[in-house]
Amino acid sequence: MESVDRGEPNAIVSPQALDVRELKKQVFGPVLLPRDEGYDEERSGFELSVDHRPVVIVGATEAADVVAAVRFAAERKLPVGVQATGHGASVPVTGVFINTRRMTDVRIDAVARFTRIDAGVRWEEVIHEAGAHALAPLSGSAPFVGAVSYLLGGGLGLLSRRYGQAADHILGFNLVTADGRFLQVTADQHPDLFWGVRGSKGNLGIVTSVDVRLFPVERVYGGGLFFPGEAAREVLNTYFAWTATVPEEVASSMFMARYPDVDGLPEPLRGRFVVHLRLAYLGEPAEGEWFFAPLREAGPVIMDTVASIPYTQAGSIHSDPASPVSSFSKTLMLRKLDPDAIETIIKLAGPEANAVFGVEVRHLGGALARPADSPSAVGYFPEARFNVYVASLLESGQRDAIDNAQQQMLDALKPWADERVCLNFLVGANTSVERVRTAYTAENYARLQKLKAQYDPGNLFRFNVNIPPAP
Ligand SMILES: Cc1cc2nc3c(=O)[nH]c(=O)nc-3n(C[C@H](O)[C@H](O)[C@H](O)COP(=O)(O)OP(=O)(O)OC[C@H]3O[C@@H](n4cnc5c(N)ncnc54)[C@H](O)[C@@H]3O)c2cc1C
Repeated sequence: MESVDRGEPNAIVSPQALDVRELKKQVFGPVLLPRDEGYDEERSGFELSVDHRPVVIVGATEAADVVAAVRFAAERKLPVGVQATGHGASVPVTGVFINTRRMTDVRIDAVARFTRIDAGVRWEEVIHEAGAHALAPLSGSAPFVGAVSYLLGGGLGLLSRRYGQAADHILGFNLVTADGRFLQVTADQHPDLFWGVRGSKGNLGIVTSVDVRLFPVERVYGGGLFFPGEAAREVLNTYFAWTATVPEEVASSMFMARYPDVDGLPEPLRGRFVVHLRLAYLGEPAEGEWFFAPLREAGPVIMDTVASIPYTQAGSIHSDPASPVSSFSKTLMLRKLDPDAIETIIKLAGPEANAVFGVEVRHLGGALARPADSPSAVGYFPEARFNVYVASLLESGQRDAIDNAQQQMLDALKPWADERVCLNFLVGANTSVERVRTAYTAENYARLQKLKAQYDPGNLFRFNVNIPPAP
């Protein structure tokens, strides 16, 4: 794990020197020191490669708990980290750790078509509640990811080519700033924060709840088409040429890797190199069938899960792993994927490559390439057409080899690369300040640094995809 390079030196005190008696009176949830029972459970999360060792943990149950925790930290100049689920952890938190997992309220306004989501809510709860009203959020591939951080990082999901990034549909949020103020932020109230927080995750404050639009989506026609490694070249060429022909209602991605030979995996996939096309069509099944037909011809389909499904089951399309993992990943976006780029992918990650990582490529474009009605720091992706994410499960002693192999892949794809990356796909060791900078246009980054200097000059919120304050 990289050392914490977050602009400011860490001002950490020893837990023994911390007096948390007053804090305990102010906070409804648990306040835990390293010696306390429950500390280890509370500091853990989905991403096991990031090992948080905070001096104190506040298990927040409501916005007032977050305010108390931030004020406690600010008075002592202790840096602050926040976690809902741990899916997007960046660097280990060594200061005050606020866990929002108990803040799980979801309220739906089915008439106005929006939902108010508390900081600890996972998408699955929103999907379930909204589904009861025949509505859907712009959630991502995995229903167990935290909704608020996903939204603040942009949010690329199955409906994004049609409706844009999820952050574009935030209507307002409640925010605790580094000086412990509780602000209601909308396009009219604190417009600078409304612009900047949508795209900088926790750099400018901790969001305690978000209001975000819902969409009238009840069902999608989608699932996975699985092909054997021998067909990889043909499938990839067919698939990437096909992406240029489909409307915005079609979402898709490709994942390829050697699957482990373990119980629980469907028999046709076990121990095999597999190419997985993930597909979703927002419309009538017959039309979807017609759009997907050329892909079925691309090679021998060894498993086919495409069907008309309620949006509440949309997580089955990617079937991302649900249990905690120790992972290592890198990302970039591509402007195009021509046959030479496909050969590069096959050479470094195809069935013969024995690659130490799996490759995911998501189709972008559509609404993602157009400016949103209400601009945010996330911006939009005018040129990028694909998001590439290479990921490995970390096994001890392999980290350097994995790092090198993934970097070789990214370097080889540079001729087709966009200059920006997608913030939500920066995780763990891949979140250096320089890397985070590439998630923004130069103009937006400079504006964010100024906002950081204004709202968090001491970089209190630094255990994140960090944007140091402007000097
Ligand atoms: C399996 C998997 C699938 C994914 N699929 C997608 C996808 O389809 N599309 C997509 O866009 N992204 C996707 N992501 C990325 C994911 O959206 C981000 O990593 C997101 O930040 C995770 O949020 P979390 O709350 O679950 O994680 P956490 O680790 O709890 O939070 C991540 C970071 O967000 C910040 N943060 C958390 N809560 C708050 C808050 N209340 N206020 C301010 N800052 C906060 C903190 O800095 C924290 O370190 C995926 C990630 C995984 C692991």
